[in-house]
Amino acid sequence: VIEELDVVVAGGTVVDGTGAPGFGADVGIAGDRIAAVGDLRDARAALRVDASGLVVAPGFVDAHVHSEVDLLRDPAHEASLRQGVTTHVVGQDGFGFAPASAAALEFSYAYLRPIYGDGPRVEPGGVAEYLAAYEGASAVNVATLVPNGNLRLELLGNSARAATDDELAELARLCEDAMREGAVGVSSGLDYTPSGYASTEELARLAAAAAAHGGVYVSHVRYPLGLLAGVAEAIEIGRRARCPVHVSHLRGDPEGGATSGDLLALLDAARGDGVDVTFDTYPYLYGCTFLAYLLPLWVREGEEDEVLARLGDPAVRARLADELAPSVDGWRRIALAGELAPERERLLGLDVPAAAAACGVEPVEFLCDLLLAERLDVMLLGVPPSDASADDDLHAMLRDPRHVFGSDGVYRGGRLHPRGYGACARFLGPVVRDGVLSLEEAVRHATSAPARRFGLAGRGVVAAGKAADLVVFDPGALADRSTLADCRAPASGVRDVFVNGVATLCGGDPTGATPGRGLRRAS
Ligand SMILES: [Zn+2]
Repeated sequence: VIEELDVVVAGGTVVDGTGAPGFGADVGIAGDRIAAVGDLRDARAALRVDASGLVVAPGFVDAHVHSEVDLLRDPAHEASLRQGVTTHVVGQDGFGFAPASAAALEFSYAYLRPIYGDGPRVEPGGVAEYLAAYEGASAVNVATLVPNGNLRLELLGNSARAATDDELAELARLCEDAMREGAVGVSSGLDYTPSGYASTEELARLAAAAAAHGGVYVSHVRYPLGLLAGVAEAIEIGRRARCPVHVSHLRGDPEGGATSGDLLALLDAARGDGVDVTFDTYPYLYGCTFLAYLLPLWVREGEEDEVLARLGDPAVRARLADELAPSVDGWRRIALAGELAPERERLLGLDVPAAAAACGVEPVEFLCDLLLAERLDVMLLGVPPSDASADDDLHAMLRDPRHVFGSDGVYRGGRLHPRGYGACARFLGPVVRDGVLSLEEAVRHATSAPARRFGLAGRGVVAAGKAADLVVFDPGALADRSTLADCRAPASGVRDVFVNGVATLCGGDPTGATPGRGLRRAS
């Protein structure tokens, strides 16, 4: 006998998140839980939602997203709702907003402005306070990693120097504190500061601290080593620390000499060596990050004023002209993005050499001039390749069973990558319809797989007793609509979304509800 239900989602095809074939069933919600899955024709319910012809799935988990500030600015988060995303894993790439002292937070808000823009700020504090800031204040649930850059900022500032033995022990202790407060793992972003100043040994100490609490080591790998060597370092860290590894936004770079096949072979070998590796990949062939990312790490050390002073120094520029000479040709595949001052807005969307030519200077000079003038607040956006075979390489990553869905979404103003508004809908809509993987398997990549990877207990599956995070969508209509020209066009095809049993999207209309929770790693 079923007790009185709050909601019955009736007559849909349940794709339950395990990868099992979809089946016809009603789903009953009581409070914040799924109470029953089956024939609920006779159950008494306050609300009955007809889902015939639609798919009912667990709410999607975005395993890699930069929404920390945007969720506070825009708690209803239509970008996520329209894609059925109900949980975000933040604190990625070795940077974020917790744990952080007042001074570290001040530094981070300034340093991370290109990614996050300006917006509401959190108070300084640890992971527990940070998760509480989203509790009942966001349409999605939020889980966080411990960014290794935050730990470094506390102890060493934005310094390139190696940690001493005492500092290594203290970094590991801070990491354990954050894990105890509910972080789901530790992240690094080894092309960013100060994260990238960490040695392999330092990262292995942090990974061991995370593993002691069931966490995972998540890494934007050290790309200047080369893609395969960067991934190999992440695997080595997992091996030394006896810690599972998750590689961020991983895809092949056939032009750079490493295909998806090479990457997947490396992961197979790691598994043979006892290291469990997963990864996220967003379904696009071009990326988006800070423009200052093009500069070597030594230029980006210290406070913002020190970095700017270096960019204005002719001796530094001469050294950069030498050091960056081999890279300049590749900058044809990198366009200017974000927001620029009105007198430079005409440069947005141009690739770096073209923008430099428009200003009548050499590309390296141009890069320094622009970053100085905009106080580093410029984004870059990759230029999509014209080669159609690149899609096959991407698809090999997306269909691999170790792939979990992650958008790498960014949500500041200006010209940006469309992935924040479209990656999930694109993966579960067009990518599935292209036959890359089945709907059931794609749903698994975006639900139970990330929930398991990040210790989100009781989520990611449609079954009695699980959290009532649900999405009701039309599998034929689910699609991204955001493009380079219109990066904030919301996705189509999702009709209803429930988060912790509360409707956040109902009949295609956002309800404005903010039932999201701060999710702690299950112990
Ligand atoms: Zn990222």
